[in-house]
Amino acid sequence: MKLPDELKNVNNLAYITRRKLANENGEQMGAVVMWRKKGEEEFNYLLQCPHCGVEQQSHVFFKKRPYRLKCNNCEKSILIEKLAAK
Ligand SMILES: [Zn+2]
Repeated sequence: MKLPDELKNVNNLAYITRRKLANENGEQMGAVVMWRKKGEEEFNYLLQCPHCGVEQQSHVFFKKRPYRLKCNNCEKSILIEKLAAK
């Protein structure tokens, strides 16, 4: 997983987290990096889906818990635990 250039300047970031993600069998097959820039409400994320392995980058606005991402390849829902959205 190659991180985008905008993550090199952490002074622009309000929040960043990196987690490993497990599939239904509990195997850690994926990962996600999520970051929010100062002054923005949306999260950007770089996801390697734990179910299908496809990497993707997008952004999301979380409205309410539990926070979930949806893989744009296999369309499975991925739970993001313990995220501080604000
Ligand atoms: Zn997937």
